[in-house]
Amino acid sequence: TTALLWLRRDLRLGDNPALRAAVAQSERLIPVYIHAPEEEAQWQHGAASRWWLHQSLSALDQGLRQRGSGLLIRRGESLAVLRQLIVETGATALHWNRCYEPAVIARDSAIKQALRAEGIRCSSHNAALLSEPWELKTGAGEPYRVFTPYWRRLRAELLKRDDLTDQSAAPDALQPLPTPLEQLPLEALDLRPQIPWDQGLQANWQPGEAGARAELERFLNGPIEPYHEARDWPFERGTSRLSPHLHFGEISPRQILAAIRDRGIAAEVAEPFERELGWREFSYQLLYHFPHTPSEPLNPRFADFPWRSGDTEPLLRAWQRGRTGIPIVDAGMRELWHSGWMHNRVRMIVASLLTKNLRLPWQAGARWFWDTLVDADLANNTQGWQWSAGCGADAAPYFRIFNPVLQGERFDTKGLYVRRWCPELARLPDRFIHQPWQAPASLLAQCGVRLGRDYPAPIVDLKESRAEALAAYDQVKGSS
Ligand code: FAD
Repeated sequence: TTALLWLRRDLRLGDNPALRAAVAQSERLIPVYIHAPEEEAQWQHGAASRWWLHQSLSALDQGLRQRGSGLLIRRGESLAVLRQLIVETGATALHWNRCYEPAVIARDSAIKQALRAEGIRCSSHNAALLSEPWELKTGAGEPYRVFTPYWRRLRAELLKRDDLTDQSAAPDALQPLPTPLEQLPLEALDLRPQIPWDQGLQANWQPGEAGARAELERFLNGPIEPYHEARDWPFERGTSRLSPHLHFGEISPRQILAAIRDRGIAAEVAEPFERELGWREFSYQLLYHFPHTPSEPLNPRFADFPWRSGDTEPLLRAWQRGRTGIPIVDAGMRELWHSGWMHNRVRMIVASLLTKNLRLPWQAGARWFWDTLVDADLANNTQGWQWSAGCGADAAPYFRIFNPVLQGERFDTKGLYVRRWCPELARLPDRFIHQPWQAPASLLAQCGVRLGRDYPAPIVDLKESRAEALAAYDQVKGSS
């Protein structure tokens, strides 16, 4: 028998349940990737994600070739392509790992129904999550909206599980692809940028399963120990940087937990890190139960929030380009543009500035992140933005407005992060690195900084805009 293995966001060979099932249940396996961006509706891959996808598909193809097989690439409507492949190969079964974005769930359900009616055995599997979004419910049978009880529950479930120790290796050898199958070259998908803006991405990342492994090793060999504290320091590589690998399924959270257990890392050392994986699960659970949230606030009060009116384009553009005149924000936005990633602490700071001080809608920020992040992920991005804007589940209350100067002084005390990404400020002393507008003119001149020329003057007054944001919040606070 022949089975199709439809690879989507599970771009790995180790710990891949659909691959495992297909190998166990059939004699021949045909791994296929179908390029059908329209099927993701308004959430097609952004530019940075396309770059990653290209590299990751290439790595996956290599891994499959090393095992005697290869990745078949096709383009077109998924159902039509699958039907065509069934005719060409005589496949009687189809395996895939589940995705959880609303448009993809709808597509996959329709495909399952159609192909089953045509006599094809369709099986979907869980490769991405520690717990399916429908598995854990509150005592009242509702989805969780508060993180801490969710995490307590998930953690208790994980402690009971006995499948978190083996690493589930990739199969050693696979059947070759049948020869006359039409194969699109990866280049035909046009995923790579037309203009070469991707040097920063290339310098920072190694997409694919081996790259994910290497990043995990790096993290477990050191940074996991001080993670509970160092995770907030943006100038250090203190976090795992696994987010794009997790997004594309080059590594599974199960593999990560298994590696932590294998090394005998103490539970209390691992907990702060595992809790972040818990946030990822929580976000997927929210997206699944509240599928409108990528564009609408979870808290309906915020539907009428008085965002700034008038010509907001210049403010948005200054934020996007890292030219707000607020150093920690500009450093973050430039890190994002250059490397396709931004440190979590700084994501929260730039999101607060956008949604509170600039009073621009969180959806505009989420869209920019979607296009520029290599880890752009509908569940995590939606949750991150709604949390920051104060309108999501278990959100920071809207009135808690980050002061970016104090945040900078606390988490980038010596200004190392700002100096790296805003080199025009590098010579300023620590005292003014997070608020150059407070420095005496003579000192600025001495350090070679002309505000408004070498580096922007702040585009917003932090104190006034804070008061305006609170007044705007008062307008929606009482409504429901
Ligand atoms: P680590 O600290 O090493 O954490 C390990 C893993 O846990 C991460 O790889 C990620 O998968 C998960 N994780 C960590 N923090 C969170 C969180 N707050 N919410 C959900 N999952 C989390 N993360 C994305 O993966 N994609 C996004 O599009 C995204 N957009 C965000 C937007 C905003 C405004 C904010 C505030 C956060 C966003 N995050 C997003 C969450 C978080 O910033 C990143 O997951 C994290 O910075 C990735 O770095 P890391 O892999 O080194 O994280």
